[in-house]
Amino acid sequence: MRWVKKAKKYILVLLILAVCFSSIPLSAFAAVSQSQIDEVKRKRDQVYEEKQAQQEIIDELSASRDDIISQKMALEEKVTMTREQIALNNQEIELYEDMIAEKQEEVVQAKALEDLQLERYRARIRAMEENGQLDLFVLLSESQSISDLLTALDDAGDIMQSDRALEDQYIAARKAHEAKKDEYEEYKAGLVAIQEMLSDERDQLELDIEFQQQIIDELQQQISENEDLIAEINARWAELDQEVVELQEKYDEQHTPGSLWGAAGLIWPCGAYYITSLAGNRIHPVTGESRYHSGIDIGVPNGDPIWAAAAGTVTMAGWNGNYGNCVMVTHGNGYTTVYGHLSGIAVSYGQSVNMGQTIGYCGSTGLTTGPHLHFEIREGGSFLNPMDFFGWGNFDYAPDA
Ligand SMILES: [Zn+2]
Repeated sequence: MRWVKKAKKYILVLLILAVCFSSIPLSAFAAVSQSQIDEVKRKRDQVYEEKQAQQEIIDELSASRDDIISQKMALEEKVTMTREQIALNNQEIELYEDMIAEKQEEVVQAKALEDLQLERYRARIRAMEENGQLDLFVLLSESQSISDLLTALDDAGDIMQSDRALEDQYIAARKAHEAKKDEYEEYKAGLVAIQEMLSDERDQLELDIEFQQQIIDELQQQISENEDLIAEINARWAELDQEVVELQEKYDEQHTPGSLWGAAGLIWPCGAYYITSLAGNRIHPVTGESRYHSGIDIGVPNGDPIWAAAAGTVTMAGWNGNYGNCVMVTHGNGYTTVYGHLSGIAVSYGQSVNMGQTIGYCGSTGLTTGPHLHFEIREGGSFLNPMDFFGWGNFDYAPDA
């Protein structure tokens, strides 16, 4: 007898383990709920917002960069103009340097003529002295009269006078050349001063351009980093979007009659896969009494369609006490399925229904604490446990509190 007790205990442990594990989705079927899809959608949309925020940052950075690029372009135009002006100025300076050199040459030539004339003048005076033309004593002694003396003096004076005039002419020419040269040099000095100013301006512009290029490079760097970030965010978004698509496909499939088959050719009667109450003896959630539960309760959202588990004939379509709005379908193989607490009924008594046809909508009519489907499988006069038909692998068990 001892081994029987032990075996019983062992079986109990196994049963408890089985119940525990049953709350974990075991198969690839893993029921998908709308809230699960909504959660992934929420995450996906959050990532999208993150992306938008990043995009805004990039747009701002790009606008700043473009601003500075156009500023830099204006400066580059200006520096180009300054450089052109410097080149023109240089040409003019060179021109003036040539003119100054030319004038210098003319000054030198004029000075040579001047020197030569001075030399001639001196030579003439010496010659006059030597041949007595300028010997005043001789002049005085040899002159017959005052008028003779004056004439002699005049003659000598005329010769000297013309020499003097020639020298003066040469001096004037040299001075004119020098004055012109000074004028050119003054003008050139003005050009050189402008040139220095322009060079300073060019240097400053080049510094400004360099500085702006640095800012542009920094902004570009930031833009690139943000673009990398957006690429990452996009990848994350695509992943989540794919997850939404897959979950939605699965959800849609699970909300199509026939996605889950049980024994005896029955299909699961709704798109929800949460069992909220098991078949068998239990404490009734409303009455609090220990009562036999003739079927299972399935956590179907209010208003969701309920499908005929197999083709058959409607043997009840109406109010049925604690069942509330109730539909019963009798199938040819001896089974009858019962659907209770419906909010609406889509068939009528005696009607033939196809497998998967919508026979009503989930609700909370009759003796219930909230919307759910009460589902029974009967054979003859007895209640069968629907979980024996569909197994536990595809369901979550989440009992009502
Ligand atoms: Zn029930």
